[in-house]
Amino acid sequence: MSVDTVLLDMDGVMADLLGGLESCLSLAPGTLQPQRWDDLAGEIGRHTGRTPSFARSSTAHVLEVAAMEGRRSVRSLFASLPIMPEAHRLVNMLQGECSVDLAFLTSPSRGPISAEIAAGKVDWILSNFPDIPWVITHEKTLLAKPGSLLIDDRPETVERFLAAGGRAIQYPSSFYRKDFREIHREIYSQAS
Ligand SMILES: [Mg+2]
Repeated sequence: MSVDTVLLDMDGVMADLLGGLESCLSLAPGTLQPQRWDDLAGEIGRHTGRTPSFARSSTAHVLEVAAMEGRRSVRSLFASLPIMPEAHRLVNMLQGECSVDLAFLTSPSRGPISAEIAAGKVDWILSNFPDIPWVITHEKTLLAKPGSLLIDDRPETVERFLAAGGRAIQYPSSFYRKDFREIHREIYSQAS
């Protein structure tokens, strides 16, 4: 069965969360190089001289601290994330050469700040890609089916989506570096 819909993850694929956090925390671009999202607090702790206990903080706490230091809300942090350098090229290829339907498929993280994150993500989509529909859910596998291709930078999410019967490609976010041309060829071959 061919692919009719491509589902785009936001953080690490379309929106540069690490770049936004670096900007909020006054760190030079490219400073944060966590190996996984779960290492984010430890990585920020190392570069900002925070106590070792900060390294065990939840992602939600990290986001709240970063937003506070940048004197903004979590919603505004997400609304103003930089766009990933290859985002427009990827969308143009999928809508043009591949002519598939596109949608954002993104998770609002866990805990009380979910609503703020979700609102910030909607703001971001409306200012950057207002014509692309979006789905915000903690459970991306709800949309897994043979004609759907998920592009996501988190290996665990890719594995779960494949196991649930969808197609998925792991995208090289800033801490899973790969050659974008190679990954775009792979996406093209599955989506066209
Ligand atoms: Mg992601």
